[in-house]
Amino acid sequence: MRLDRFLAESTELTRGLAKRALLRGEVNVNGQLEKKAARHVQPNDDVTWLGETLALIGNRYIMLHKPQGVECTSRREFYPRAVDLLDVAKSERLQPVGRLDVDTTGLLLISDDGQWSHRVTSPRHQCAKVYVATLARPLEGTTAQRAVRAFAEGIRLEGETSATRPAELECLDPFRVRLTIHEGRYHQVRRMIAAIGNHVEALHRQSVGELTLDDALAPGEWRELDAGEVALF
Ligand code: URA
Repeated sequence: MRLDRFLAESTELTRGLAKRALLRGEVNVNGQLEKKAARHVQPNDDVTWLGETLALIGNRYIMLHKPQGVECTSRREFYPRAVDLLDVAKSERLQPVGRLDVDTTGLLLISDDGQWSHRVTSPRHQCAKVYVATLARPLEGTTAQRAVRAFAEGIRLEGETSATRPAELECLDPFRVRLTIHEGRYHQVRRMIAAIGNHVEALHRQSVGELTLDDALAPGEWRELDAGEVALF
């Protein structure tokens, strides 16, 4: 790989800035000053920039405790973007894996590995997503039992022709339910709750597939997934 590309792939420098860093004499290869952008480097070469040894940035897999008021879009619109909360190099390559509404909190995966993201979100894989919803009105008694049955059978959301896949509804207390869904339609949880005549006041995602939000992460905090977690998808 060319040295300027290696620098751009292993730091926050763009290719142009990497060339300038080379010309300023900031880069060494195997202990020797190197100014040539076209110099080829091999995997076992020791490349340093301003004295720091560099390694290629591989694919990144991140778990963010998404706070309220943050968007999952790739272009910034009205709110800060989820990727803006990550202080990492090449953050422009990272994309949220699926979307949460601006007001939804909880587990958001972020990656620059498109194939992995596809495995997480693809309807074919029917990855379970678990949400806890706080309701505007109490859900209890026979109304709650009817809702559990309706969600298990699948319900027709307004404006849609096909019923939702079977979903599991668990009443935690009169104002809080845990809902497990196996697809990702637009505003799905809020619309399912609206379909039973209630309203979601707050929504929090606990897990995606086998991966549960790390308790140690406060809203806005994140960490990289370990290899075992990445391999879950
Ligand atoms: N369903 C919703 O309605 N909103 C979300 O953010 C996620 C699932």
